[in-house]
Amino acid sequence: MPDRLVLLGSKGGPALRPGGPWPSSSLLEIGGRCIIVDCGLGVTRGVVDAGISLKALDLIFITHLHSDHVLELGPLLHTAWTAGLAAPVAVFGPPGTGHYWRRFCQAMEFDIEIRIVDEGRPDIRELVSISEFGEGEVVEQRGLKVMALRVDHPPVTDCFALRFDHGGKSVVFSADTAFFPPLAEFTAGADILVHEAMLEEGIERLVAKTGNGARLREHLLASHSFAEEAGRIARDGGAKRLVLNHLIPADDPGIGEADWIAAVRKTWAGDLTIARDGLVVELA
Ligand SMILES: [Zn+2]
Ligand SMILES: [Zn+2]
Repeated sequence: MPDRLVLLGSKGGPALRPGGPWPSSSLLEIGGRCIIVDCGLGVTRGVVDAGISLKALDLIFITHLHSDHVLELGPLLHTAWTAGLAAPVAVFGPPGTGHYWRRFCQAMEFDIEIRIVDEGRPDIRELVSISEFGEGEVVEQRGLKVMALRVDHPPVTDCFALRFDHGGKSVVFSADTAFFPPLAEFTAGADILVHEAMLEEGIERLVAKTGNGARLREHLLASHSFAEEAGRIARDGGAKRLVLNHLIPADDPGIGEADWIAAVRKTWAGDLTIARDGLVVELA
């Protein structure tokens, strides 16, 4: 199995619009491990469409508890369970992830109990382990090392960029963050930097379109990065490829790939991918 990154859901924010992309989730296959990063709505469908058996779920990482990153964690695990998951799955997330999972299992208690009795399934609450992490080393296991860096995503304080290293290959996910220079050092020569991005002219169109425009603009500017800023992190960190992801806006017919490229080329001359749902990036 060649190492690859699959961008399952590429839009920023939780709203869905006809014909538009889906919220944040990614699949990283590295060193024989099957890793999910973030579980926005659509992650289950995305994993299956990427040709991965839900029974093969292995490691799941959540960058922060905004719904566009965690809403479908429970449904993904539950669906994998009904698909025949028999091996343990390890979930790593910020503080509060365990609370989400316990309450999800409570909400689904009727179904879980009845399937254990009626279908003889193992108890999903024993199959899934949740580890809450902070900044620093998250896990080191069978040659895979995962590090976390707290980023700047107010008012959320527990939001973490993640770095995956295996066999000399490395992939970094920025998570949601305003321009955050320490990310460059964290990126240090990574094969792929997946960085969130927004487009200035698109923000004004988005703000004009939505109800609470002024508040939305304030949140976006304080908590997210422009494409040019993502390019600076990639350049300063010496990334081998920049993937612009968690795009805001993602479903404006007046904004196309050429606009994203034009913005990021002001600061980044290297290999570039603009994310879209289902896009595969090979890890050379
Ligand atoms: Zn987000
Ligand atoms: Zn967020």
